[in-house]
Amino acid sequence: MGEEKLKDSFGRVINYLRVSVTDRCNLRCRYCMPERGIELIPHSEILRYEEILRVLGIFSYLGLERVRFTGGEPLVRDGFVNFLKDVKKSFPRLLISLTTNGILLTKYSNELKSLGLDSLNVSLDTLDPDKYRYITRLGDINDVWEGVKRFLNEELLVKINVVAIRGFNDDEILDFVNLTKKMRLIVRFIEFMPITKSTWKKEDFLSADEIKQVIERKYSLTPLGHRIGYGPATYFKLPWGGVIGLIGAISHHFCDRCNRIRLTANGRLRTCLFGEKEIDLKEAMRRGADDKELITLIKEAISLKPLGWFTLERWGDGFMSKIGG
Ligand code: SAM
Ligand code: SF4
Repeated sequence: MGEEKLKDSFGRVINYLRVSVTDRCNLRCRYCMPERGIELIPHSEILRYEEILRVLGIFSYLGLERVRFTGGEPLVRDGFVNFLKDVKKSFPRLLISLTTNGILLTKYSNELKSLGLDSLNVSLDTLDPDKYRYITRLGDINDVWEGVKRFLNEELLVKINVVAIRGFNDDEILDFVNLTKKMRLIVRFIEFMPITKSTWKKEDFLSADEIKQVIERKYSLTPLGHRIGYGPATYFKLPWGGVIGLIGAISHHFCDRCNRIRLTANGRLRTCLFGEKEIDLKEAMRRGADDKELITLIKEAISLKPLGWFTLERWGDGFMSKIGG
């Protein structure tokens, strides 16, 4: 248990950290990255594993309950699974989650299974192999399914994250819902967020309410609220017991109950996905700041966390893969 709970200026308790371990990725999803990739952070500027462990130690002292590792694609970073083992060993009570595109899941499935992860989110925006290749520019959907299947009989529940894009996968909503009939997994639909101006169009946006209506034309949905996990999704039960989630990041933004902050791949704390302000923990650590100073910096960062962001006309200023989606 930490010294005290971290609270922002609006009384929200911050107990969930999302860590981007790399800005590199083995895919080039059209809505996330340009085809040529993005300008990469030099290796020397990427937070080292021991630096991430140090930040986690300080956050644990301050009441951190859950960490999610993301990227870029976390599984492409050398030594990542061994790093997860170190995290588990150092912070046995911390809930550890992973977000991945699933391409390398098969390769690491045995090690990941033995780790006791709390949650595994796999991003998959279509069930059609050709559309998958199109949207990711590089991926083979069979690799993802191979990996996912290795986890379906595990205690750990797999969540499939689907970014809903009008004209691309709105015709697959029920197919995704029906997956929960035959596989033990949760499907979550995420509203397409205007993170990068060049890749987001208003016409592509499909709201969580529209998705719900499509599902309800066929199946009844019993609300489960936000009871599953720590995240922003609202969950519903299907008649056969399957569960789906809707993440209305734009239409029903969940800023009032936001409990998270982000650590970017280059060691900056970002308190809001859409907030421009970042606090540079890497620079502080590398010039020799002690834990006390880091705690002060973290508290300062959290005091800057905005109440929310409120307009669709406002785009983020970077790439999701850099910030850590
Ligand atoms: N590479 C990993 C993956 O794809 O799961 C982790 C990083 S990725 C940036 C994390 C999540 O952000 C993915 O589920 C991805 O679909 C989602 N994402 C990226 N850009 C998005 C956007 N503009 N709106 C909504 N979700 C987005
Ligand atoms: Fe890579 Fe994930 Fe972005 Fe796709 S969404 S390009 S897999 S970081």
